[in-house]
Amino acid sequence: MSLIVQKFGGTSVGSIERIEQVAEKVARFQGEGHALVVVVSAMSGETNRLIALAHEIQEQPLPREMDVLVSTGEQVTTALLSMALNRRGVKAKSYNGSQVRILTDDAHTKARIKEIDDQRMHADLQAGFVLVVAGFQGVDEHGNITTLGRGGSDTTAVALAAALKADECQIYTDVDGVYTTDPRMVDGARRLSQITFEEMLEMASMGSKVLQIRAVEFAGKYNVPLRVLHSFEEGPGTLITLEDKSAMETPTIAGIAFNRDEAKLTILGVPDMPGVAAKILGPIGSANIEVDVIVQNIAEDGTTDFTFTVSRSELPGAEEILREVARTLNAQEVRSDNRIAKVSVVGVGMRSHAGVASQMFAALAEVGINIQMITTSEIKISVIIEEKFLELAVRSLHSSFDLDGEPENESAV
Ligand code: ADP
Ligand code: ASP
Ligand code: MG
Repeated sequence: MSLIVQKFGGTSVGSIERIEQVAEKVARFQGEGHALVVVVSAMSGETNRLIALAHEIQEQPLPREMDVLVSTGEQVTTALLSMALNRRGVKAKSYNGSQVRILTDDAHTKARIKEIDDQRMHADLQAGFVLVVAGFQGVDEHGNITTLGRGGSDTTAVALAAALKADECQIYTDVDGVYTTDPRMVDGARRLSQITFEEMLEMASMGSKVLQIRAVEFAGKYNVPLRVLHSFEEGPGTLITLEDKSAMETPTIAGIAFNRDEAKLTILGVPDMPGVAAKILGPIGSANIEVDVIVQNIAEDGTTDFTFTVSRSELPGAEEILREVARTLNAQEVRSDNRIAKVSVVGVGMRSHAGVASQMFAALAEVGINIQMITTSEIKISVIIEEKFLELAVRSLHSSFDLDGEPENESAV
């Protein structure tokens, strides 16, 4: 008998009808003899609705209170799905994060899982129950409710699969797998039958929200077989593999990711001398603001310009800090721009193929898109461009790297 952890995302449990459909599916799996732990998200739109309610009261509510609020969404779904299963004669029990005891650190709204108590779950599984667990939430060592960041139910599922040593973790969602790029942006996007864990990690961190980045990290660290599938359509989905594809014949580029959540800050006319970058970024880091892409210009007349990006929600805070830095450094000016976006091409094949960067830049030049900033890693090249050109950029790159086309041939895997 295999133990499977299944996760159903927001749209898959977005109405009573859908919850009934999920129950039907889970009942069928159980009938086939699998032991099942089912992780659920809040019904679609619910987390956003709860966040909006909070903002009607306060612009920046305490993170602890936000967690108490937003964790309720998942709890509703666990109870409803459990009821739908019990009505079908499938023994099911719902659990929230603190009942399982998904122990996290105390970083409210972005907590990390430290430990999962698997004893109670094992006992229930032995007794033949399907466990329905609330995604996205945990509890810190003082009993405070915590949440794992947007999209965090994926991470709950993978972490439970790791703790229970499940045979597979299946992420059911509203697309039938991981695509070469967001299929809602590019019609010709193609489902990948498999993608390496490394590539998936880059895709997720560069903005492909089909899997939360921490879920991919967990899967890699604990060797959890992970698959992304459509909730209501049959199909093989996409397997996230740990195997090294370098020996196989693979395309250079696995996919294209993009992120609109970028804003740019420039400080002009800072002295070109040792320690200036630290003076600029030090206070930003101390304020817990994550910096993404950084560019420093060549110095002229002993001064230089320094540009970096942060997430849009952090722009006001970062700008205020930078203006203060500008005063102490006697800089000329601070400029900000939140109409930018980041596009990345990702692929392990880049390691052995030269010329990917020039192909990318040429493809963007051909459609007249100016590149503002560039950053690379071993298996990824990212550029910052004007947001209004984002779709054009993604489409052009998708065809330039020959990613358009029919679904991959399953038998080739
Ligand atoms: P869920 O609510 O099930 O967690 P999400 O909305 O978080 O679903 O993730 C699924 C969505 O991810 C898809 O609807 C799709 O628009 C988006 N997406 C972005 N990039 C990709 C990609 N490369 N492959 C598949 N889906 C992607
Ligand atoms: N409900 C949470 C969110 O909307 C977690 C999740 O769906 O994974 O971000
Ligand atoms: Mg999600």
